[in-house]
Amino acid sequence: MSNNDKPRADATRVVSAGRRKEWTAGVVNTPVWRASTILYDTVAEMRERVGETHHRLFYGRRGTPTQWSLAEALTELEPGAEGTFLYPSGVAAIAAALLSVLSPGDELLLVDSAYDPTRSMASGLLKRMGIKTRFYDPLIGAGIADLIGEDTKAIFLESPGSLTFEVQDVPAIVTAARARGVTTLLDNTWATPLLFPAIAHGVDLTILACTKYVVGHSDVMLGSVTAAPGHFTRLRDTSFQLGQVASPDDAWLGARGLRTMAIRLQQHQASALKIAHWLKEQAEVAAVLHPALPDCPGHEHFARDFKGSSGLFSFVLQGGSDDARSALIDGLELFGIGYSWGGFESLAIPTDPQRYRSVTRRADAGPVVRLQIGLEDADDLIADLAAGLARFRAAS
Ligand SMILES: *Cc1c(COP(=O)(O)O)cnc(C)c1O
Repeated sequence: MSNNDKPRADATRVVSAGRRKEWTAGVVNTPVWRASTILYDTVAEMRERVGETHHRLFYGRRGTPTQWSLAEALTELEPGAEGTFLYPSGVAAIAAALLSVLSPGDELLLVDSAYDPTRSMASGLLKRMGIKTRFYDPLIGAGIADLIGEDTKAIFLESPGSLTFEVQDVPAIVTAARARGVTTLLDNTWATPLLFPAIAHGVDLTILACTKYVVGHSDVMLGSVTAAPGHFTRLRDTSFQLGQVASPDDAWLGARGLRTMAIRLQQHQASALKIAHWLKEQAEVAAVLHPALPDCPGHEHFARDFKGSSGLFSFVLQGGSDDARSALIDGLELFGIGYSWGGFESLAIPTDPQRYRSVTRRADAGPVVRLQIGLEDADDLIADLAAGLARFRAAS
């Protein structure tokens, strides 16, 4: 039931992965094993277990079959990966991955389009620890080689970028990193391993905010890091030292979500593409920032490397004020106004990408709106957005 060798399609893997018989014990999905204390039969058994770290009950912080099952499933979705560790949020996963690689005096190269809390971690926690960060243009590609210096220890990628969706040339960056012994980390939350198998593309540590598509129902915080061979032991040891543990209840909800992730992503993709193409035709819209559209920066990398697109993208309004944008968003009936994404329901938020940039400039024609396209009917969502654009026009 658990191996990476058989040539199975993703839709099959998300259903079967991680469901070892000894963990499911006769039911379909691994049950919730809640534990702090683990009981041993003898002192000798207790002593013997101390050195074991893998898939043996030891103490609640080291997990139970519930967490192991989801972690193994995520590993199976990344061909070539060695192992996965779970975290209580996506940001906790990013922190553990970075801390497993970086030490005082090291330099991190961080993509300028990274998720804002990742940027804050670099300019706050990492800086305080004596780790320098240099931001780089998401479209730098092989040019990253010129930025790699004596102290450069890690390159952090996020593709497509948060808010603006530039698609990075991951193979070119990974090749340049490998040539200099630099570790690569990728925030793969948008694509998930189903649309971009990161380890197979040469990434060393791939990170998911499972809060988004893995959970899929907007009700759990959860993160994961999946490591290429040679990187897992240090990731796990660092995570143990940090005291990281995802709760069994949350891991169970993550596994439940995972079973439908392939089919949910298909619908997110289809509806988001339909809406993106419709938006592109509207007079009030200056640009649609969606990796699958040919004018998206880095689209050629998307077309070459990705197996499909997901449900999150942005659009730029043609002129208009912040108030006019609020009029558009406030009156939407089917889109919630809220952070996060990847659930079954649609969301819309205002965003001002230039505020989160250090080395790249944006010259957007107007305010930007980010959409998470949920599982509602796409035509209903289009009608809702059409009314929103009419409010924007009236308020401009
Ligand atoms: C939401 C998000 C995260 C953080 O995940 P949390 O579970 O909210 O901590 C990381 N990266 C990206 C791209 C995200 O959208």
